[in-house]
Amino acid sequence: MGLMTAQEYLESLHDGRIVYYLGEKIENVAQDPNLGVCARTMALDYEIAEDPKYKDLATVYDEELGETISRYYHKPQNGEELIKAHDLIVTSTNLGDGIIPFSHDIGSDALNAYSITAQAIGNPEYIQRVENYRTYLKQKDLATCAAVTDVKGDRMLRPSHPGQAHPDQYLRVVEKNDKGIIVRGAKMHITGAAYSNEILVLPCRAMTEKDVDYAVAFAIPANTPGLTQICRPFKSKVSSLEFPNTRQHFIHTDSLIVFDDVLVPWERVFMCGEWEHAATMVYNFALLHRRTGVAYRIPMSEQLAGVAMAMAEYNGVSQAPHVREKLTDLLVYLETLRSLSRSACLDFVMRGGMAVPNPVVTNIAKYHFASKYHDMVKIIQDLAGGALVTSPTYKDFQVPEIKSYIEKYMIPKNGISGEQRMRMMDLIRRILPAENETICLHGEGSPMAERMTIFLEGRRTLAQCMKLVETQAQVG
Ligand SMILES: Cc1cc2nc3c(=O)[nH]c(=O)nc-3n(C[C@H](O)[C@H](O)[C@H](O)COP(=O)(O)OP(=O)(O)OC[C@H]3O[C@@H](n4cnc5c(N)ncnc54)[C@H](O)[C@@H]3O)c2cc1C
Repeated sequence: MGLMTAQEYLESLHDGRIVYYLGEKIENVAQDPNLGVCARTMALDYEIAEDPKYKDLATVYDEELGETISRYYHKPQNGEELIKAHDLIVTSTNLGDGIIPFSHDIGSDALNAYSITAQAIGNPEYIQRVENYRTYLKQKDLATCAAVTDVKGDRMLRPSHPGQAHPDQYLRVVEKNDKGIIVRGAKMHITGAAYSNEILVLPCRAMTEKDVDYAVAFAIPANTPGLTQICRPFKSKVSSLEFPNTRQHFIHTDSLIVFDDVLVPWERVFMCGEWEHAATMVYNFALLHRRTGVAYRIPMSEQLAGVAMAMAEYNGVSQAPHVREKLTDLLVYLETLRSLSRSACLDFVMRGGMAVPNPVVTNIAKYHFASKYHDMVKIIQDLAGGALVTSPTYKDFQVPEIKSYIEKYMIPKNGISGEQRMRMMDLIRRILPAENETICLHGEGSPMAERMTIFLEGRRTLAQCMKLVETQAQVG
């Protein structure tokens, strides 16, 4: 079968799935004026795979199948392959003007977490089912997303706790029969689900024996009966309509997915009741997904550094001591992220027969990005000045009676046109929507989740350091 084309992918979305956007049921997401933009964002990954320039990065030749497949569904075997997957995410995000297309990456993080967990459980049936499913994805090149985060209800109560408002705050198995399992519940914030082919479901936390019905993982097509998706409304990136030269814009939305007694056939079930292993699955997914998150934040951080430098230059202040300090902060932010991201790949560990990025370094990289992001935004808002929120728009610029005023009075330093400055500010508005601050904090897990993992994974290092100083202090 081989790779899907961008056109085939868009056509595949017209499959009867139930998706709501702003109160309307959407008949064909690829054709919808809002969700169509998101679907075309995802389609970019398919365009990249079709482009001979990116073939080596985006695809691999699968010896067993004897065909070329997406790199995302290949199990990396070493640091070099992890770096290639990393560079693919960076490249596709760059081509998406700072937005990752998301067609296979989150899904492949979930798929790899299934593989690692199936090995940890040691059940040959699960191992075989996951391998069969991987082969299916390789052959069909389907777009996948990961539905992990439950709606959760009271965060301090376990899934099965009777104090929860209802028993469906976490997705659970309500029935088993010879065809498969019936599941009920909802997953929230699921990026790209409305325009993915397959939804890969995982538990979102560690479970106890009482939570046995909630320890469930499976994959289903997005048009499976009983699934309803309700999408987050998003603002179209307004300015690209006003700036005719701007490239097509890219954007995503996230779904609340309701599972209203959905039948999942046994061959698609990868965990059902193994509560002791729920933590392994969510832990490994989080690790892989944070590496993905860190990689796509590199182009975003390059944008931050670029617009800060441009505004400082345009306004003639780039040599001012306090501005140089701010630009240095941006450089430290960017270069720390770049080097942590790459070293996490090179210092990989093997799990479930595949190379996975170093857990401590990956979590530090994600924590670094999220915890310092707001400070970097503040620098840009400062350097751009108040015109960022008050300047005339390009629509005004196109009106002959006032164009000359705008042209004259928007000029910053000599040699830079008013239009150049307006365009740069327009880019800043596009790359810094207010919601980005929340996205950076919570996407791939909240900062506390990263700190907990850093501590848990780093305890051996702490013990080694303690041993070292005890030797130096000649204690014991
Ligand atoms: C843009 C975006 C895209 C996303 N995409 C996906 C996706 O594709 N798939 C997916 O599965 N998820 C996705 N998520 C979900 C994301 O992983 C979660 O938002 C994140 O894990 C935080 O969970 P929450 O939003 O439920 O926050 P909460 O869990 O409500 O956290 C809020 C606060 O409560 C604290 N808290 C929570 N529980 C406890 C506790 N038990 N004890 C003490 N403190 C606690 C947290 O530390 C945090 O400070 C996405 C999120 C965003 C913002």
